[in-house]
Amino acid sequence: MTADSTPIPQDIAPETATEDDRPLGVALARGFRRKCPNCGSGPLLRSYLKVNDVCPVCDEELHHHRADDGPAYLTILIVGHLMAPLLLYVFMTWRPEPLVLFTIFAVGCVGLSLYLLPRLKGAVVGFQWSRRMGGFGAST
Ligand SMILES: [Zn+2]
Repeated sequence: MTADSTPIPQDIAPETATEDDRPLGVALARGFRRKCPNCGSGPLLRSYLKVNDVCPVCDEELHHHRADDGPAYLTILIVGHLMAPLLLYVFMTWRPEPLVLFTIFAVGCVGLSLYLLPRLKGAVVGFQWSRRMGGFGAST
């Protein structure tokens, strides 16, 4: 799987489109890098979480996305499953002072969440674009 900047051909009518004209893995990887799932070079987001209406490089319409709470849910799922066992391991191994433990894990959880949230939003938008969900299926 490569996430190069080669545009995926879009001259296929939606009704004749196959599953492979928008490869899922490429779209997910480009979305996670916060790049347009179609061309891989245009920025997907115009601020921390706002998705560009159209890609400034390839003019692909991106306003059809309906990411909603999906990225936040995935962020909580990943951060929780990483930090909860790590918290137990650190506590059982080193028995740090409670305030030290709290400070380290509070900063770690917030930092990891802020890192993952826009990337997972990009991946969710890439997934929806790849599977032609919602308005993405109507684009030419
Ligand atoms: Zn693009």
